[in-house]
Amino acid sequence: MANETVKIPQATAKRLPLYYRFLKNLHSSGKQRVSSAELSEAVKVDSATIRRDFSYFGALGKKGYGYNVNYLLTFFRKTLDQDELTKVALIGVGNLGTAFLNYNFLKNNNTKIEVAFDVDEHKVGTKIGNVPVFHMDDLEKVIKEHNIQVAILTVPAPAAQSIADRIVQGSVNGILNFTPARLSVPSTIRIHHIDLAVELQSLIYFLKHYPTENEGI
Ligand code: ATP
Repeated sequence: MANETVKIPQATAKRLPLYYRFLKNLHSSGKQRVSSAELSEAVKVDSATIRRDFSYFGALGKKGYGYNVNYLLTFFRKTLDQDELTKVALIGVGNLGTAFLNYNFLKNNNTKIEVAFDVDEHKVGTKIGNVPVFHMDDLEKVIKEHNIQVAILTVPAPAAQSIADRIVQGSVNGILNFTPARLSVPSTIRIHHIDLAVELQSLIYFLKHYPTENEGI
């Protein structure tokens, strides 16, 4: 992700898009500086963590002044490769997949779902949210033609591993796995698992057992 020489800890890197989104909003409302307390309130990360995160990229806030919004935005844009478009494929145009296609991360101008895949003949050949749906038989060919870098998996869990095996052969180097299946991929591929059912269970658990604690992220 980062083309910086600075090595940012993974936990910090995960928070960058959160900071970035908030700073973009601040910038468009004309704000030039922001304190770590304001940031903390908005992104729900404690201000000590924010200060530590920001220190990794040399953004040292001044007491009583805060951080320069422009400086931070420039840094984030560069670090998150916001100038480069990341082409995404979505595999499995079911309920969740369809929602993603319609949403299509339009507020992030650096990511776009370009193509979608399914096995259902009723879905193949249609466009959802302006994204064409291809048949799984054409997976490798279309991924190559569009130079897809990231795949979102929203297929039934039993189908996920064999699809992962196919996509890692090509240009894809990142997978966002929404299926509950734990997938094995080569170490050159980065995979993030998002199991919504587990997240919901975990939230409910925390609500029950730690009702007043704010864990941040
Ligand atoms: P729906 O109501 O459309 O069935 P869903 O999200 O409940 O949505 P799932 O059974 O999870 O349905 O399937 C998600 C999508 O993945 C469906 O559109 C299905 O056709 C598709 N699908 C199933 N098997 C595969 C596969 N092997 N490769 C690609 N897509 C698949």
